[in-house]
Amino acid sequence: MIPDKDFITSKDIPGPTKEEIRCLVMCKSKVSTGDIVVDIGCGTGGLTLEFAKRAKNVYAIDKNSDALDLTLKNLKKHNLEGKVNIVHNDALSALKKIDGLDILMIGGSGGDLEQIIEEGFKKLNDGGKIIVTSILLETPVEAIKILKKFEMNIEVINVAISKGKILERGTIMYSNNPITVITAQK
Ligand code: SAH
Repeated sequence: MIPDKDFITSKDIPGPTKEEIRCLVMCKSKVSTGDIVVDIGCGTGGLTLEFAKRAKNVYAIDKNSDALDLTLKNLKKHNLEGKVNIVHNDALSALKKIDGLDILMIGGSGGDLEQIIEEGFKKLNDGGKIIVTSILLETPVEAIKILKKFEMNIEVINVAISKGKILERGTIMYSNNPITVITAQK
């Protein structure tokens, strides 16, 4: 896993997804060397880079061109740009042009979650997975409702990671905000 501090960041762009959450997403996605991955809302590139290390090909999609510039900088920093297609587009329009996905990662949807999942499901290979990560309370509820319609096998996890800062007199735990990770298999 790439340490958080090894990403170039920007105050205007969310991410990277924290290392422990990336770890969980990689584990739950069961990504493997033959996989085609679409990362919707690549932001800083946190998840894009981890998928690029493990998959065959990754489409990094964002509607914000600054996010794509930042993702590309991070890919280059870690010599991973060879496997990644950078797509500057809205998620839905981008998805319509891609076929045969093994993993659809949704890290941002901007109110289009239902259409993105519907389009993604059509493009997903049998056994493929849709993963939704969210810091908002509402998104997982909406995602579960949509995924149930497709009779997918759904797993929901909510984690709140605390990290210790070791001081002379003891260790203080600092908590990160809780994140929900939904994994659904076709
Ligand atoms: N997973 C990223 C952080 C994601 S932040 C990381 O680890 O670095 C969410 C991103 O989703 C933002 O950059 C935002 O521009 C993008 N986004 C939100 N809605 C979108 C949509 N409908 N289409 C494309 N990108 C979208």
